[in-house]
Amino acid sequence: MKLLEQRIVSDGIIGAGNVLKVDSFLNHQMDVEFLNKLAEEFYRLYKDCGVNKILTIEASGIGIACLTAQFFKVPMVFAKKSKTKNIAGDVYTSKVESFTHGTVYDIIVSKNFLNPDDKVLIIDDFLAKGQALLGLTKLVKDAGAEVVGCGIVIEKAFQDGGEIIRNSGVRVESLARIKSMSVEDGVEFC
Ligand code: 5GP
Repeated sequence: MKLLEQRIVSDGIIGAGNVLKVDSFLNHQMDVEFLNKLAEEFYRLYKDCGVNKILTIEASGIGIACLTAQFFKVPMVFAKKSKTKNIAGDVYTSKVESFTHGTVYDIIVSKNFLNPDDKVLIIDDFLAKGQALLGLTKLVKDAGAEVVGCGIVIEKAFQDGGEIIRNSGVRVESLARIKSMSVEDGVEFC
């Protein structure tokens, strides 16, 4: 999406450790009018797939997932990051290794909010090594539901997450795909 690529070039900041900061419009301050255009694009891509639920992971996926859910007119569910060691049996759970923090945490979704007849669109802000998406797809599969696909705002295509998820047979649509980035040369898109 050209609009998004331009915004990444103008407002993105390349940080240490292959982290792109887009705090001014996506991850901290949110340009809601702009993000709504991205949500509409996710709707255009998946509108004929029978999506009846949007799933994301707290915290940074929630905003874009909410906006997307409005276009589909379906509920949005976010997986919570749990600090509780003994997780009760009324939740689906999975482990995720955080790309930005380097730690492993549990994510949970109440069994009340994922059902076998659900057709789920997973939305997230970034795709790097694919750990967040793998954790979320596991929750959906454990519920006996179907992953229709994933909608990602920014995929760092120089990392292997996109390949891992696509090779597992899951459709992934990313609105911007970064081929390479460095402080010296800036961002190059696929
Ligand atoms: P993955 O699980 O694919 O390795 O990483 C995806 C998650 O890590 C996303 O939910 C996102 O919050 C975070 N993340 C990964 N790479 C970046 C990045 O370059 N910038 C920011 N702001 N977050 C990232």
